[in-house]
Amino acid sequence: MTKDTNGRDAVSVRDLTFSYDGETDVLKGISFDIPQGSYTAVIGHNGSGKSTLAKLLIGLLAAKSGTIRILGQELNEETVYDIRNRTGIVFQNPDNQFIGSTVADDIAFGLENRCIPQNEMQGLIETAAAQVGMTKFLESEPTKLSGGQKQRVAIAGILAVAPDIIIFDESTSMLDPRGKKAINEEIRRLHEERDITILSITHDMEEVAQSDNVLVLRDGTIAMTGTPREVFSRERELKEMDLDVPFAWKITEELMKLGLADHPALNLEEAAEELCR
Ligand code: ADP
Repeated sequence: MTKDTNGRDAVSVRDLTFSYDGETDVLKGISFDIPQGSYTAVIGHNGSGKSTLAKLLIGLLAAKSGTIRILGQELNEETVYDIRNRTGIVFQNPDNQFIGSTVADDIAFGLENRCIPQNEMQGLIETAAAQVGMTKFLESEPTKLSGGQKQRVAIAGILAVAPDIIIFDESTSMLDPRGKKAINEEIRRLHEERDITILSITHDMEEVAQSDNVLVLRDGTIAMTGTPREVFSRERELKEMDLDVPFAWKITEELMKLGLADHPALNLEEAAEELCR
């Protein structure tokens, strides 16, 4: 893959095969590397194996064969807890992740697990709640929140901890476009400030356009890897997997060909502004 911040890989997967029933392989001997400090989007049609891969990477599922190295450590029964301390995951369905009786308790959970001193905790909780726009809900009961609000809290829990690697598995799927954009910007800011490696399983092609690398899964194999530009240039193959190149990207590509834009505009508004200049 392309971005190489310090030459080390945060994730290195070799010949990874996994089966739920021992018969049908849902991941079929895949290999890939994710450079430390990069932002990788994982895309693919439903059932292609994205969530299964995420669970394997944090040791919630065990591989049938192959190896996974996280931050240089091979994932196995002995290393799994150490690796989970350095890696966080936010699932699509936040209901499975709530433990605390208030939003604040819930955000605190990951910090407590990582033995953050009590006197630092409150500040970290408040900062994380503000980052996801949930300050007003700190004393609310998580189960009473809307789906989108629950997703915000789950994201806050991981942002508070700021582990070396964060895996987002469709973690903003219940948010409206504006909320999604705001949270994505916050995640991107933290990723850049703290050099956090991000793996984001997403259907949001605008988010994909902004990533460093893209990993495309198809029926348990890796169909493509590369920069967004490299992947988007294979539009016909993407279409076969029900994946659409974002319209704004196409416009910007045309503008660039005409010399009217010198950088990829990342949304339609920016592209339109370029066009009107
Ligand atoms: P994606 O995240 O790309 O939608 P998944 O990793 O969820 O794909 O699923 C990959 C394949 O594994 C699919 O065929 C799905 O039906 C199957 N699968 C997912 N979870 C389970 C499970 N708990 N038990 C059996 N099969 C599963």
